[in-house]
Amino acid sequence: MKDIIVNNGLKNMPMNRSGKAFDETESLRQRIDELESLLKVNQVLSNIHDPMELYSALAGFIREKFKVRTLSIFVYYHNAKKFESVFSHGLDDLVFSFNRNNGLLWQEILRKDPFPVNDISGNPIFPELFENHHLKKLRSELWVPFVVRNEVIGLLTMGKKGNDQAFDEFDLNYIKHIANHASICLNACTYNLNRENEKKELNKILQNFSYLLKISRAMTNIGDLKNLLKYIMAQAIEITKAEKGSIMLYDPDTDQLSVSVIEGLEDKSYQEKINNKQVKCKSFKPGEGVAGQVFQTAKPIILNKTRGDEKFIEADSSFTRSIACIPMVVYNNVIGVINVTNKRDEAHFSEVDVVMLKAVTDQAAVAINKAQFLEMAVTDFLTGLYIRRFFLVRLRDELHRAERHNKVFSVVMADIDRFKNVNDMYGHSAGDQVLKAVGKFLQKNIRHEDIVARHGGEEFVIFLPETNKKAAYILAERLRKRFSQIKLDNFPNPSISMGIASFPEDGKDIESLINNADTAMYFAKQRGRNKVVKFSRTDTSYVDHSQESL
Ligand code: GH3
Ligand code: MG
Ligand code: MG
Repeated sequence: MKDIIVNNGLKNMPMNRSGKAFDETESLRQRIDELESLLKVNQVLSNIHDPMELYSALAGFIREKFKVRTLSIFVYYHNAKKFESVFSHGLDDLVFSFNRNNGLLWQEILRKDPFPVNDISGNPIFPELFENHHLKKLRSELWVPFVVRNEVIGLLTMGKKGNDQAFDEFDLNYIKHIANHASICLNACTYNLNRENEKKELNKILQNFSYLLKISRAMTNIGDLKNLLKYIMAQAIEITKAEKGSIMLYDPDTDQLSVSVIEGLEDKSYQEKINNKQVKCKSFKPGEGVAGQVFQTAKPIILNKTRGDEKFIEADSSFTRSIACIPMVVYNNVIGVINVTNKRDEAHFSEVDVVMLKAVTDQAAVAINKAQFLEMAVTDFLTGLYIRRFFLVRLRDELHRAERHNKVFSVVMADIDRFKNVNDMYGHSAGDQVLKAVGKFLQKNIRHEDIVARHGGEEFVIFLPETNKKAAYILAERLRKRFSQIKLDNFPNPSISMGIASFPEDGKDIESLINNADTAMYFAKQRGRNKVVKFSRTDTSYVDHSQESL
């Protein structure tokens, strides 16, 4: 029995608690009771793995044993050199914290023994600390350090005992023993918790990494800028759990940032119009609004309350609650910004969102830059339409696709009527303006899936997928009529003649399709211009279709 007492650290225990002569058997019985209770405490604490549960169990034992009215548990944060309360009883959930200083208190804590914090008259022994950090409100008498292998991990503060008597040496020993064991358990708990958190963190990093890898692979496989931007935008929205987003690219010609792609709008047809450049969103000058500032400074901005923030300029009633805006940088050059707006479930954008977005945009920016160069190489400078060579490459792909899936398509050749006159009467640059206007008009008035290119000079060619000759005629007629209704600034707009050839009936290869559409167009000219003519092998007189009912 003696051995057990010694092994449990209760040696030097006084034989007399009340100053009277003590019955030895009684004293032994009491100590056995205490040991049993300690053993129980040890067992219970050892089986807890969650720090909060541990605090609560420890507090329960202390309260049961000493009936203290107030109690709190502090954790010591090494890096911050700071104690912070994480659990309390009888203190109205007040939270306390104070920094470690190398003074007397720290020396006291390092001694590992419970120590009183008030002098005999009830005044704090560390008055300055208590004053500065409102520690009087702890209503504590005794502080008990949690130390494991000379490393401070926290402390326990206890108020007066229920019977208002001072803590005696028995109590102190009991408390010290519990504190020793609790420190070890607490250390194990935090270790486990850290390990768990590290594991979670590692898993998340791995998950993000594989996600980024997937995105980067996908990006290298998307050739055209528009689809690339759409893909990037969709990923950015998904990663940040945003409602919507946009990519704004910088145009050095206009010195403006304008929306190149937008995703997540409720009105899908409006979204398509923006993405097809049929509707223009507000553009921003460098330095203007959130996007302009992010562009200018190359630093991300998060605004979780846009209302009332002077940085935020509402673009076309976009109903933005929160926004995260990240610069897209290639070789130290900002080429644009990516915006995600309105975090779902009313949550806030965080630094983590920015880190993830940045990982995507860093790759995206390079891919966009590459695609922009490619786009530049295949785009006609004057009209902004594809050049013929690229059109033919696309047409070849589309022809193979149509062959494989047994689909029809049509090709329309369009030529401006008497364009030479425009040049002659108004000058070459006026002619250029007309060509520009026609390019813009065609781009705006074809369907999303159609492809239009400048075939050369004042000729244009349009590919209409899954469109038979009849449907192509209706579309072309609509174009012809609409164009005749638009107004140019300083001169009357010329009319357009068009010829249609369809796959497979008018040709099974690109050359014959283009030639036949050209033949039909040529016939439209012969018939007086401003007409649409369908190619026909049998009817060589090429009936004037412009009077057909639509
Ligand atoms: P038609 O109705 O028979 O097509 O008459 P047209 O005058 O349009 O036909 P033509 O082919 O004789 O003339 C085409 C003119 O287009 C000749 C050329 O100078 C002009 N052109 C071609 N490319 C450009 C260009 O990039 N800018 C300008 N301003 N004119 C161009
Ligand atoms: Mg012409
Ligand atoms: Mg011509």
